[in-house]
Amino acid sequence: MANKRSIYGALSTLLTIALVSILCWYFLGRPQSIDEGLENLQTAGKNAKDKFDEWNITSLGDFANVLQDGLNGLDFGSFFDNDPRVGDNSTILWKDFDPNNGGLSLTLLNALDDDWAEEFDLAVEDWRQSDALVLTTERVEVDHTCQSKDGVMVVCNANFGDTGWVGINENSIVNDRIVASVSKMNEYYLKNSNFDHRRYTMCHEIGHGFGLPHTDENPYNSNLGNCLDYTDDPDQNLHPGEVNFNKLRTMYLTNTERRVEKRYVRGGGDGSEEGEVEEERIIITRTLEFRG
Ligand SMILES: [Zn+2]
Repeated sequence: MANKRSIYGALSTLLTIALVSILCWYFLGRPQSIDEGLENLQTAGKNAKDKFDEWNITSLGDFANVLQDGLNGLDFGSFFDNDPRVGDNSTILWKDFDPNNGGLSLTLLNALDDDWAEEFDLAVEDWRQSDALVLTTERVEVDHTCQSKDGVMVVCNANFGDTGWVGINENSIVNDRIVASVSKMNEYYLKNSNFDHRRYTMCHEIGHGFGLPHTDENPYNSNLGNCLDYTDDPDQNLHPGEVNFNKLRTMYLTNTERRVEKRYVRGGGDGSEEGEVEEERIIITRTLEFRG
């Protein structure tokens, strides 16, 4: 018995060491460089996110508990009270664009349910009026988990619940440039909303996806006639406006020197050598807020 116990003891010790090694390997992946280590961490994060999505997908695709009257009778202007991006007038550019060749060429992946087709098509058609954008669309499988994909803008819908926002745009930023964008429509508020609310939200979030800021953040002053203007009357701000197109021109048709920020995190010790570059990726989130 003593032998057996010690064998089990040894086995469990080995198992523990193996497990710890696997965890270390899993999280650190015996990185050859900082970049690789970060990549492995990102992979681990992505795996965890996939698990979460798998678990969450049932509620994201379940529209049973959405507001039955949509936004009817609610104050659309109050959607903006809590926006974390209020006051942020900065524009941010996509990583790749060519001022000498039409500006920003971007593919929008339509991962929306079928009943969003009209709002999506109209919004894309509207934004195509910009001479700084070359937009193509691709119909992909409906994705209520809204998986981000590098190099494109994913447009999707799901029941995100009583979150306080009708729409949200998430731009992934690497070295100060957008590398991926996701525009999400929240069915909790929009499923049974009128067409204008849905169309305005679509135009607004896609606009953020190009890197555009708001044009005005007081929903109760006069409408500027563009969908990046906060409004109480979405029917008057359904389309992009000249002010948005001018901004896009400055952003994507102007030849500017590319500024790439690099942060050196592992130097040569004596400061004479360049070290590994750590790539920083942050998510900039813009929402249409609602407080009922
Ligand atoms: Zn916004």
